[in-house]
Amino acid sequence: MAFISVENASYCYPLSKKKALNGVSFQVEEGQFVSILGPNGCGKSTLSKLLNALLVPTMGNVFISSLNTKENKNLIDIRTKVGLVFQNPDNQIVSDTVEDDVAFGLENLGKSQKEMQETVKWALEKVGLLEYRNFKPEHLSGGQKQRLSIAGVLAMKTKCIVLDECTSMLDPQGRADVLGFVNDLRKELGLTIIQITHFVEETINCDKILVMDKGSVVLQGSPREVFSKASVLQTFGLKLPLVTEIGFKLGLNKTILTEEELVSTLEAKRCSEM
Ligand code: ADP
Ligand code: MG
Repeated sequence: MAFISVENASYCYPLSKKKALNGVSFQVEEGQFVSILGPNGCGKSTLSKLLNALLVPTMGNVFISSLNTKENKNLIDIRTKVGLVFQNPDNQIVSDTVEDDVAFGLENLGKSQKEMQETVKWALEKVGLLEYRNFKPEHLSGGQKQRLSIAGVLAMKTKCIVLDECTSMLDPQGRADVLGFVNDLRKELGLTIIQITHFVEETINCDKILVMDKGSVVLQGSPREVFSKASVLQTFGLKLPLVTEIGFKLGLNKTILTEEELVSTLEAKRCSEM
């Protein structure tokens, strides 16, 4: 079975009776980098909460390493395998110092003091915040706060990080920094990354894109497969990455994903026309 297997999962919020997810199915292999794209309100955050058993599907199933999220005995295992990082880091920061904040999640795992200290140091080093360990979290920048949230998840030795629009409050440079650093961590630690975003440009380098609309996954595939379906994306209010759009507008019969590819395809076309 795949590392994550979501099987025909639906979710209905109990009080409002709002059906936020409707028969969602997909799989994620260990080490994959998956993006979830879709407009506001389409169910992305609800889905992210299903992935670490903060919510369990009202119909269908979610399995993490073959563990069903519906079984209470699997909860700790699942939460140490999949960690969530939310949009607003201030909602996730709970302690007075950077160091204590990373230690917070570890306190219920029955680790010795020494083990905890080593793990916290390791996680802060990985995200480049070790020198800030005695700072108050509120004195960190937005990007640093997101790194702190990521350190908290890493300290649990999670195999998978789900980033729920965690760059949306950052400026373009801050976004690029966090994503670059997450990708480096993915390669170094063999992590599985699921990023939820509404910036199409951020999905170009991933292994698989899931496009969501009104609680369903309406399209899934590699970036090239997904972006070759421009008209389908348009019906869900999504735009193509700029280079891909330029490629189509120039009449290139190819789904372009990078500037380099655009330049080389144009050069090849020019040569063939000479
Ligand atoms: P997204 O993250 O794509 O913006 P959400 O998963 O947050 O979408 O929301 C999906 C739908 O579920 C929306 O219609 C939203 O209003 C509704 N919803 C989200 N959270 C709750 C909640 N706690 N109670 C009731 N309805 C909710
Ligand atoms: Mg959301």
